[in-house]
Amino acid sequence: MAGGTGVLVDLNRGVQPVALIDLSRVAGLRDATREGDTVRLGAGVTYTDVLERHASELPGLAAAARTVASRQVRNRATLAGALVLGDPSGDALAALGAAEAVVEIRGPRGERTVAADAFITRPGVCDLQHDELVTALLVPVADGPVAYAKAGARNAMARAVCAVAVALHPARRTATACVVGAGPVAIRPSIAEALVAASWDALGDAETAERFGALVAAAVDPLADERGSIAYRRHIAGVLAARALRRVAAEAVVAP
Ligand SMILES: Cc1cc2nc3c(=O)[nH]c(=O)nc-3n(C[C@H](O)[C@H](O)[C@H](O)COP(=O)(O)OP(=O)(O)OC[C@H]3O[C@@H](n4cnc5c(N)ncnc54)[C@H](O)[C@@H]3O)c2cc1C
Repeated sequence: MAGGTGVLVDLNRGVQPVALIDLSRVAGLRDATREGDTVRLGAGVTYTDVLERHASELPGLAAAARTVASRQVRNRATLAGALVLGDPSGDALAALGAAEAVVEIRGPRGERTVAADAFITRPGVCDLQHDELVTALLVPVADGPVAYAKAGARNAMARAVCAVAVALHPARRTATACVVGAGPVAIRPSIAEALVAASWDALGDAETAERFGALVAAAVDPLADERGSIAYRRHIAGVLAARALRRVAAEAVVAP
């Protein structure tokens, strides 16, 4: 147990674990260090830590963190805990995916890393063995504008029905994007990302944003549940993607 915001829900549902191990005082897990162009966020880093200490270097993650739950939950809940819970609509997951972050894992067989957007393999299941610990998230520092667009049932204390993060990389003239809540896992819409690279000089055009939204809507693989039908989630994924691209395009210094 890290922040306990997921574990406590399970305990309240009657789950009876054979043991509970509190990770919150394990030395080093709460540390965050800058290593070149990457921020190494220890697995004990909370949403509040990201907002208060890393908003300038990780603006996408901070924008996503700002929409999570309430201040009380953000003070306790860790990003690593959210990934291990395996929620394919998690706010952190979208921002980590667009940032091309990596999950660092340690266990008796040594250390390994997994791309954040591939860490959740199906709802509620992640790429972690029972004897392994997530030790850190390695998040590249933003090298351009980043936007996070989320749709939920309301604006606070609500998980995303769907959310899209888009990061521009002006030096490379490319974009990276990640969609959550529109499939059983996080989705990197590679064809939509390629459109941005091909249309870089027309990034601010309304038509580019609309085409980007349409390609994202075509790329997703939504599941229906009580919070949204397949058609609604596909539609909203396209709307949010177009909105996020418009926001980053407005901030970008587009090379002639
Ligand atoms: C009221 C409420 C509102 C919420 N709203 C949102 C929201 O708007 N958006 C959103 O994305 N999420 C939301 N959540 C989910 C929340 O983000 C997660 O519950 C939280 O991030 C989990 O982190 P934690 O540190 O509390 O995990 P814990 O509850 O401590 O642990 C969760 C799971 O992860 C495992 N774990 C934790 N750390 C590690 C580690 N380092 N290595 C290996 N396994 C580990 C635990 O064993 C456990 O299985 C909400 C939760 C609540 C209770």
